[in-house]
Parts: sequence; structure tokens; C-alpha cells
Amino acid sequence: MQTVKTLQMLRTTLGQLRSAAGHGRARIALVPTMGALHEGHLTLVRRAREAADHVVASIFVNPRQFGPNEDLDAYPRQLAEDAAMLEAEGVAVLWAPTPEAMYPAGFATNISVAGVSDGLCGAARPGHFDGVATVVCKLFNQVQPDMAFFGEKDFQQLAVIRTMARDLDLTHPHVDAIIGVPTMREADGLAMSSRNRYLTPEQRTAAAVLPEALAMAAQTIAAGDQPIWLAKSVVEDELQLAGFRLDYIAVVDAETLAPIEELAGRPARILVAARIGTTRLIDNMAIVPRD
Ligand code: AMP
Repeated sequence: MQTVKTLQMLRTTLGQLRSAAGHGRARIALVPTMGALHEGHLTLVRRAREAADHVVASIFVNPRQFGPNEDLDAYPRQLAEDAAMLEAEGVAVLWAPTPEAMYPAGFATNISVAGVSDGLCGAARPGHFDGVATVVCKLFNQVQPDMAFFGEKDFQQLAVIRTMARDLDLTHPHVDAIIGVPTMREADGLAMSSRNRYLTPEQRTAAAVLPEALAMAAQTIAAGDQPIWLAKSVVEDELQLAGFRLDYIAVVDAETLAPIEELAGRPARILVAARIGTTRLIDNMAIVPRD
């Protein structure tokens, strides 16, 4: 695995990878991350390995997607450890730009995806999805992958990226496919996240209530046992009891992310963001109606 830190090196390395393919063009998959890797990230890498000839993983703690009072400085950084994990998974290139390489002096462009960015985490974290869209657009242009892998764990982020790629014609001929990968969970159901390491042992135990409550709500809504408003208020109560402060709970159309009051035969999703202590956790699940 080659670790590259400048755009010039990235271009040289990718050029070599592509031309070494012999006949035809090697297919390259991109897995963007902010590092502090866990099994969730590695699952994306494994899926990418199966689908492409070469995997490029990026590690960049993107300042533009953190708000002024968020955890940018505290965000875990462990490049050597992450690099070893990626190498063991057969990643060909680790793209690890510095903030200065990504945003040179005078950088002035912002990508803002209206609609899907507005509610949910977008409302709770103003500017967050502009930061995400801007950096992912740059990563797509820098790497020009044939496909890119993202986790459903960040469901709204996935919708924002799909919309941006479609609107800016990033999907053809490059980034042919944006692939969403189901959320990897700990044994007790908690979605894996780099931020879980902020939790105290007591908070970590309590955090299992989040996926439990969400799964129960998804099930009762799907079965038609409770109206959506009631199922949401049950989750709210359960989270409060477990020591969470709720940012939002929403049931939305899985494509538009518009809130829905009842199932209308279209894919739906339940999403939650809640704080325990100073840590903000998010999770979401599909609502699959029974036939
Ligand atoms: P991050 O490093 O948090 O920006 O995440 C990088 C990528 O990994 C994003 O596409 C995330 O959605 C994905 N990801 C994070 N946690 C998980 C998880 N538990 N399961 C699957 N994918 C994940």
C-alpha cells in the first residue's frame, strides 16, 4: 500500500495503478473516511475490494464539516494504526492529504445541496452537509473512482452525496456507482462509530437502548401496531430514561427524507440523533412493511 499526501503524488500513483492493468482499464473504488477506523469502515473496504480491481481509501478529518463548537480538535487521529489496518485489508492507496493540501490558501468554493441537507442533522449542525458535499466532490475529482462506498449509518449523508453526484454529473463516466453499505453494529446493537470511544463505561452500557428502541419502533410502525407519532414518542421516552437528550427523531421517506405521518407504500426510514453526556450519537433503520 502506498500512502500519499500530495495531489501530485496521488495522480502519479493512480496513473501507475490504472496503466498496470494490462488490457482494459483497472476499476478503482474509493472509500472516504475520517480515520479512527473500526469494523464498519473495514466492511466498506471489503465490499470495495470485491467490486473493484483496486481500492483507494482516504483519511481526512475535514474541518469544513465541523461546527465551531464541535469536536474537530478532539476527533481521534491515529494514521499509523489506520494505515496498518488498511494495508492488511489489501488497500492499494491511502490518500491522506493535509488540510492545507485539501484547502489551499484562497479556497473559496462551497457546495450546498438544498432539500436533503436541510432537516435532521442539517438542522442540528448548520453547514455540516456543505462541508461534506464539498470535500466528497473534491475526493471524487481527485481520485476519479469508478465507484464509491458509503455507510448507511450516515443515511442523510448518503442522500446528500447521491443528490450532489446526480446534479453535478459526477456519476458518468466516473463514479458510476455510489454504493450504500448496511450499518455494522456491536454485539449489543450499538452502531459502530469512531465517536463511541468518547463514551464512559456507564454511557456505553446505556447507549444500547438507542438501537433497541429504534428497532422496536421500526417494527411496530411496519406492522401497523402504532401510528408513527406514538412510536416516535415511545422512543423519545425510552431515550430520556436511559439518560439521552434527544436532538431529533424522525420517520421519513427513504429517498426524499421528507417527514411522513403514515406509511404510503414507499420505503421509509426512522432516524435518530441523541446526546449522552457530551457525545452525540446517530442511528437509523429501515421500516419494512409486512405484506
Ligand atoms: P467516518 O469516518 O465517520 O466519516 O465514516 C466513513 C464512512 O464509513 C462513511 O461512509 C460512514 O457512513 C461509514 N461508516 C461509519 N460507521 C459505519 C458503520 N458502523 N457501519 C457501516 N459504515 C459505517
